[in-house]
Amino acid sequence: MAFHGGGWFAYIRHDEAQDRPTITRDLLWRVWDFARPYQGQVVLLLVTILLITGLSLLSPLLMRALIDTALPEKNYTLLNLVALGMVLIPLVNGVIGVWQRNLNSQIGEGVIFDLRCTLYEHMQRMSLRFFTQTRTGELMSRLNNDVVGAQQAISNTLVTIVSNIVSLVATLAIMLALEWRLTLLALAILPLFVLPARRIGRVLRDLRRKSMEHNAEMNATMNETLNVSGALLVKLFGRERREVDRFSHDAAEVRDIGIRSAVIGRWFFMLLSVVSAVGVAVVYWVGGLLVLQDAFTIGTIVAFGAYLNQLYGPLMALTNAPVEFAQSMVSFERVFEALDMPVEIQEKPEAVALEQVNGRLQFQDVAFTYVDQESGQVGLQEIARFGWGGSDVHLKRGKQRDGEAQDEETAVPVLNRWALQAIDFSIEPGQLVALVGPSGAGKTTITYLIPRLYDPTNGRILLDNHDIKDLTLHTLANNIGMVTQETYLFYDTIRANLLYAKPDASETQMIAAAKAANIHDFIAGLPDGYDTVVGERGYRLSGGERQRIAIARVILKNPRILVLDEATSHLDSLSEALIQDALQRVMKGRTSLVIAHRLSTILAADVILVMEKGRLVEKGTHESLLAQDGLYATLYETQFKPKINHENIMLEAS
Ligand code: ATP
Repeated sequence: MAFHGGGWFAYIRHDEAQDRPTITRDLLWRVWDFARPYQGQVVLLLVTILLITGLSLLSPLLMRALIDTALPEKNYTLLNLVALGMVLIPLVNGVIGVWQRNLNSQIGEGVIFDLRCTLYEHMQRMSLRFFTQTRTGELMSRLNNDVVGAQQAISNTLVTIVSNIVSLVATLAIMLALEWRLTLLALAILPLFVLPARRIGRVLRDLRRKSMEHNAEMNATMNETLNVSGALLVKLFGRERREVDRFSHDAAEVRDIGIRSAVIGRWFFMLLSVVSAVGVAVVYWVGGLLVLQDAFTIGTIVAFGAYLNQLYGPLMALTNAPVEFAQSMVSFERVFEALDMPVEIQEKPEAVALEQVNGRLQFQDVAFTYVDQESGQVGLQEIARFGWGGSDVHLKRGKQRDGEAQDEETAVPVLNRWALQAIDFSIEPGQLVALVGPSGAGKTTITYLIPRLYDPTNGRILLDNHDIKDLTLHTLANNIGMVTQETYLFYDTIRANLLYAKPDASETQMIAAAKAANIHDFIAGLPDGYDTVVGERGYRLSGGERQRIAIARVILKNPRILVLDEATSHLDSLSEALIQDALQRVMKGRTSLVIAHRLSTILAADVILVMEKGRLVEKGTHESLLAQDGLYATLYETQFKPKINHENIMLEAS
C-alpha cells in the first residue's frame, strides 16, 4: 500500500498474531545514537544495577548465618556482625539507589532534551506546505507525548528490564547452588505466572489503546474549540452544549477505562500474589520435609524462601516487559518519522548572500502545483500507535484514498491541478505591480513563491538576475517583506511584536516606523503604550489597527521588495485612509507586488498583471488594458469602478 511515511515499516513490523510490534536492529541503533552521548552514565548505571542486585542477594545469606551458625553456636560476634549487616546493606543499597536514580534521570532527561530540540529545529525548517498538511494537534503530540514516551522507554522500561534480568539470573544461580532440586520445583510453577500475565497484559493494553484514542479525541476537541476562531464559531452557532457533551463523552470513557484498568491491574496483582504464595508454600513444605529428614538446615530453607520472593518479583515484571518495551519504542519511531520528513525548501551549500539588493524580480515560465509530485503528501499523518490498532488505521486511510480516487464526484486529478502555469513577467527595481484577477486565480500563490514559501514546480524566479534558489534563505528573508491579509501577532507586547522584524532596532527607529504606519498615536494612547500586550492572534486590536502594526513591522524591517495582499475587508473610511497613506509611504522606493483590491492601487501601478485560472492572461497599464476590452475591463467595470465613490469619500476623510 502506498502510504506516506513508509519509513515506519523499516523499523517496526507488525506481528498480527502477537499484536505487538517487533523491534528491528535499525531502530535500536538509531535509539542508541541518541543515547551515545550518555554512554558513560549508561555504564555507571549498569554498575549500580549490579551492585544493588548483589547487595540484595546478601541479606538471605545473613539470615542463614544467624540461624545455622550464630544462634546454635552462641556466637555473639557473628550475631553482632549479622545485625550490623542487616542495617548496612539497606543503607548502602539506598544510597546507591539514589545514585542510580540520578544517573537514570540524567540519561532519560538528556535524551528527551536532545530529541525535543532536534525535532523542534527540524520543524522550524519545514516548508509551509508541511504546515498546511499537518494538524497542529498531531505535531504537538509528537513533540510532547511521544518524546516523553521515548524517554520512558529509556529510563523506565530499560532499567526495569535490565535490573530484573540481572536479579533473576543472579538469584537463580544462588538458589541452584543452595539446593538445585528445590529450585527446579520453584521453577515448575512458572507457567502459572506467565499465562495469566500475558492474557491480562493484553487486556490492559487494549484498554490503554482505547484510552489513548479517547484522549486524542479530547485533545482534538480542545484544540479546535479553545482558540479564538473555534470559540467564535461555537458561540455564533450556539453549540456550546454539543461541544461540552462531545468532550464529556470522551472524558467519561477515559474515566471508566481508568477505573477498569486499575481494578483489573489489582486483580492481576492478587492472582500473581496467590500463585507466588502457592509456590512459596510448596517449596517450604518440601523443604520442611527435607529439614525434618536432616537433609537440609533451617537456615538454608529460610534463605531459600527469601530468594524465592526475589525470583518471583522479577519474573512477574518480565512477563510483559518485551511488549511494554516494544510499545515504548513506538514513540521513538513516531519521533523519528517526524525527523525524517524531508526539508523541502533547502539552502544550497554554495548559496550566495547578496550584500545589496536592487529589487529586480523576474518570473520565467513558472508553473506550480500545491500537490507534492512524488508522494502527493508531505504532512505528518495521524497514525495510531503500532500494535494498538495502527494497521487498521493504515488500511482505513488507504481505502478512503482509493475510494476518493474512484469517486467521480470528488475525483481530483491531483497531479494536473496546476495553481500556476506559464507565468512570465519582470518587475524593475522600484516599480509597483498590481496583481488582479478573480478569486482562486493564483494571486496569493504567486506572492508565496517570491520569499520561497514554496518552490516553483517548473521554471525560475530571479532576484537581481540570480535564481532565488541560489541565494541564501537569509538574503531572501532580509530583503523581502510581506504583509498578508491575516495579520498574525504574538501574544506579547506591541513592542515585542514590532521588534520581531528587527530585534536590534532603537526606540527611535521603532517609533518612526509606527508613525510612518499611522499607528503611533493609537499606541501612545493605550494605557501601557508600546508595552500593551496584544491578545491571542492580536484579537484585542481591531482589524485596521492590526494591519497598521503589520505595516509598521515591515517598515522596520525595511525590505527592498514588498509583497502586499491588500485587505478586502471593509474598514471604515478613516481607518482605510490611514492604511492607504501608510502603504503609499512604505511602497515608495521599493519594488512592490500588490494583490490589489483598491482602485487607487491599480491606477498607481506601473504594470497590472491580470490572472485567471492560474495563468497570466493580460499585462499592461490601466489604459492599455481597458483598451483591450478583455478580462481586466470586465473586472474594472464590476469590481473597481463601483468603488470610486467609496474611495473618494475616503480621500476626503484623509
Ligand atoms: P483569492 O483572491 O480568493 O485569495 P487567489 O487568486 O489568491 O484567490 P490562490 O490562493 O493563489 O488564489 O489559489 C489558487 C489555487 O490554488 C486555488 O484553486 C486554490 O484552491 C489552490 N490552493 C491555494 N492554497 C492551497 C493549498 N495550500 N493547497 C492546495 N491548494 C491550494
